[in-house]
Amino acid sequence: MERLRFAPSPTGPLHIGGLRTALFNYLYAKQNNGKFILRIEDTDKKRKVNGSEKHIIDSLKWAEINFDEGPLINGPFGPYRQSERASIYSKYVKILLVQNKAYYAFDLNEDLEDARKKKEKEGSRFVYGMNSRKNFKNSLTLSLEKTTELIKKNVPYVIRLKINQKSDILCKDILRGEVKFNYEELEDKILIKSDGSPTYHFANVVDDYLMKITTVIRGEEWLSSFPIHLTLYKYFNWVPPKFIHLPLILNPSGKGKLSKRDGIRNGYPVYPIGWIENEILIPGFKEKGFTGDSLLNYIAQLGWSFFESNEMCKLTKLIKIFNVENLQKGGARFDYIKALWINSKHIQNTENKTLLNHTSDEFKMKIKKYDQKTIYSILELVKNRIEVIPDIEKKINLIIDSPIGFNERDLKKVINKNSVPLLKSLSTIFSDEKNMISKDFLITYCNENKIKFGDIMQLLRISIIGELSGPDIIEVIKIIGLKRTIERIDFLNNTISNFKI
Ligand code: GLU
Repeated sequence: MERLRFAPSPTGPLHIGGLRTALFNYLYAKQNNGKFILRIEDTDKKRKVNGSEKHIIDSLKWAEINFDEGPLINGPFGPYRQSERASIYSKYVKILLVQNKAYYAFDLNEDLEDARKKKEKEGSRFVYGMNSRKNFKNSLTLSLEKTTELIKKNVPYVIRLKINQKSDILCKDILRGEVKFNYEELEDKILIKSDGSPTYHFANVVDDYLMKITTVIRGEEWLSSFPIHLTLYKYFNWVPPKFIHLPLILNPSGKGKLSKRDGIRNGYPVYPIGWIENEILIPGFKEKGFTGDSLLNYIAQLGWSFFESNEMCKLTKLIKIFNVENLQKGGARFDYIKALWINSKHIQNTENKTLLNHTSDEFKMKIKKYDQKTIYSILELVKNRIEVIPDIEKKINLIIDSPIGFNERDLKKVINKNSVPLLKSLSTIFSDEKNMISKDFLITYCNENKIKFGDIMQLLRISIIGELSGPDIIEVIKIIGLKRTIERIDFLNNTISNFKI
């Protein structure tokens, strides 16, 4: 059975890059009738951010990516927070120590810093590893007695992985093929820190093994850790899972990773749901009026070559069509306009009832005085202009509320000295019950009176919905009825009568 996990570190809010990783793991697991696990990698106390785990879980919930095992719900391989698994890591690191595959290192930060600076001066990178470890203070250079004594005296130490590699390491990634790593550059990575807690590398591998993870899908930024992880699997004699490293999500210019700063500067969200920082809400896709479905549909295309026909599909369809072979290696550019477009398509494909459920309680109360058929026909009329959820209320309001204000720019474009008499005649013809108001009727009326049809329509638009863009105005008239239409025409007339034109 396939078992996949999403293993975020709670060092801040969940970014859409993380949500995409979660999504692809979820899709792969579900496609194979497998399990999707959430594991919180919270071993780095210094980087832990309050509220981050909640933001991760709430975001997944909002997007309806449900996990089968994880914190809060548990499962057979828990606990699912690494901070609650300390005893497991000490047990496993002992195995490596006994087998001489890991060692104690007592070096002071200053000594390591000096070594780093020295190498930098020589124009190379400092690596604490095969070639340099003999120059440091560790259990490989000290006698057994000395090492035991230091440990007894509580001298701080870390435990490092002992790399013993005589040739380059080839790491197999499903997407990238065999990736080669220069063995001389491999570091003896720290497995256990001086406070006794495990590092990401160690806890991650131990947990993937113990939680029986079969496939790891994660971001490209972890590619450089790949040889370290495979070395750990080899040392423990464990069969590694399959690996897929996803491409980065780039900002719209394609230069650099999509960051919070890009989002704030350019007014687009980068988090699925809002995040409060310094008491200020940074809106997420949810607050911007996206549905969970459409956000997933959009991010699924970031790094996955997608057919246009799939641009409007829900999670269940994504599960069916997901195919690792269509994943791409190159960075995927974020495109907010495209995301909005997909959101609007999803909204247009959503049932009226569901859409109205998304509106505020106040609005729900307000539309109670209309019968359902009327509200549905208004919604149908404006649906293709709805881009984000708040537009539902706004667009319906344009029709059911008499405009109290007019779009000033549009108004200036339309009114001139003929407007007042024109509105008067409109009011008159609409009041005459003999007239059957339709587009054809208005065309004939214009022809007979030598009035431009466009002028009449623009005035009608401004009167009825307050602005020039919007749904078919004749349809709106049919819905609101003649009485209200006349009221609105008269209101515009009164308003502009006070203008100097
Ligand atoms: N904790 C790592 C992160 O925050 C997980 C990386 C992995 O999936 O191996 O992304």
